[in-house]
Amino acid sequence: MQNPLNNPLNKQGKYKLPKRFLRLASIDLDLLKACGIQGIILDLDNTLVSEDDCYLSPGGEDWIKLAQLKGFKFVILSNGKRRYRVKYWSHRLNMPAINPARKPFPFAFYKAKGHMQLKSKQIVVIGDSFHTDVLGAWISGHFCIQVASLPHPPLWWEKILGRWVQTPYPDRDDLWSFDASEYK
Ligand SMILES: [Mg+2]
Repeated sequence: MQNPLNNPLNKQGKYKLPKRFLRLASIDLDLLKACGIQGIILDLDNTLVSEDDCYLSPGGEDWIKLAQLKGFKFVILSNGKRRYRVKYWSHRLNMPAINPARKPFPFAFYKAKGHMQLKSKQIVVIGDSFHTDVLGAWISGHFCIQVASLPHPPLWWEKILGRWVQTPYPDRDDLWSFDASEYK
């Protein structure tokens, strides 16, 4: 974990928010606090759980629970078409979800911001895809941290453009499995 005190300061003398982390659980919550972050807009697919429901981000759920204990507000923003999955995770993680979010369009980001009752600079978007999460955060005026994509069967366009918009998860051995029968 990074120590905020060792983290470089920006020109305004504030801590810099890193743009990339390998996984959710590597994001230092104290560093987010030191950067003034109080709210997290969270992507679901391939950030916390793989699109095919085979893998979980290691330690991701515990990291979220710890963040909630530390007072961070969360909203899930998911473009996923299977609403039952989003509902399931919204309930399991005890946080609201907006679905379909139609990222990178900014409307769902603004809705999440309104729900959290925070300013844009107090919110960070965390997700795995450049063209939805990073771009949407930029359009809507929020900070963003991109995490590596959990392994998933590539869509046709991801076979061509995937490496430009996502960072593949480096080590499958490190991943936690998930049992999709939990949805029933
Ligand atoms: Mg995603």
